[in-house]
Amino acid sequence: MGEFDLIARYFTRQPVRAVLGVGDDCALLQPRQGTQLAISSDMLVEGRHFFADVDARKLGHKALAVNLSDLAACGAKPLALTLALALPRIDESWLAGFSAGLWALADTHGCELVGGDTTQGPLTICITVFGEVEVIKGQGQALRRSGARAGDDLYVSGTLGDARLALEGMQHPGAWPDDLLEQARLRLEQPEPRVALGLALRGIASAAIDISDGLLGDLTHVLKASGCGATVHAADVAPLLAAQSHPQWRPLELARPVLDYVLAGGDDYELAFTAAPSQRNAVKAAAALACTPVTRIGRMDAEPGLRLLDAQGQRLANSYASFDHFA
Ligand code: ADP
Ligand code: MG
Repeated sequence: MGEFDLIARYFTRQPVRAVLGVGDDCALLQPRQGTQLAISSDMLVEGRHFFADVDARKLGHKALAVNLSDLAACGAKPLALTLALALPRIDESWLAGFSAGLWALADTHGCELVGGDTTQGPLTICITVFGEVEVIKGQGQALRRSGARAGDDLYVSGTLGDARLALEGMQHPGAWPDDLLEQARLRLEQPEPRVALGLALRGIASAAIDISDGLLGDLTHVLKASGCGATVHAADVAPLLAAQSHPQWRPLELARPVLDYVLAGGDDYELAFTAAPSQRNAVKAAAALACTPVTRIGRMDAEPGLRLLDAQGQRLANSYASFDHFA
């Protein structure tokens, strides 16, 4: 099998919405009138972003999921993707698994594969996604990092820290019960991008970001872009580690405090977002519409910097945002 057979066999389908898909020098998309294109790329490199022996189908899912998560953070509706692949060799069973994982998630979100590039080299996957954002009265509706204002509430979607827990569990076989590790591994290997929530939050959230490098670290990007500070209540974030509700959960088996995982874990692919207090009911309705739980964990302040408070309102040392706890 050569390069072109490989593309035809695993990565070519009739375009549905795209004007032109795989097979020409360029793909053609026709943005709807009154819309902007949201574009984002993410690269995954073997050994850096995933283990060499990871299941190919899960890798196909995750490679697209991390990209769709960026569209979600902008409140963009997925339209299309391109796939640039470097493969050490042609391994058909790997290609079948990888493409199946990719197509399944792409279909879930109506995202068409319209082109890419294929070359020989160390296993590297680079996906670019294209999404659509409406323009209302000349105003693009994309959620940005820069829109947060002092006094806004701070929220996070879903659960946090379980991906990191899984990574440690895999590095220390036997450290946690199999069943608990399995559940956490789902979060590491099969993240579900919060696309529906991002869409539902348009016009409601003032700023948003997806959490890929840990909540507090990513939050600092919002603070910087928005020119404000934030106060985070540790007691509201700590329960978000889903593994704690597993029947086999034993806190003593943890190598680190729960806060390390939820505040700085990384690979969560949840959304952190802000909204004015007057939008509390609208946020609740958006979360219900998207079938995605959201938790209010703090507020934005005029005073710069990130303050972490315990349940009694006492300041906790916050080193999470400034350096990598897991380095
Ligand atoms: P070019 O010579 O213009 O670089 P290629 O010969 O690399 O084009 O690719 C042929 C066609 O196949 C193009 O339409 C390209 O977008 C598409 N393509 C290449 N690799 C992939 C891939 N991994 N997934 C989807 N489409 C691909
Ligand atoms: Mg090419």
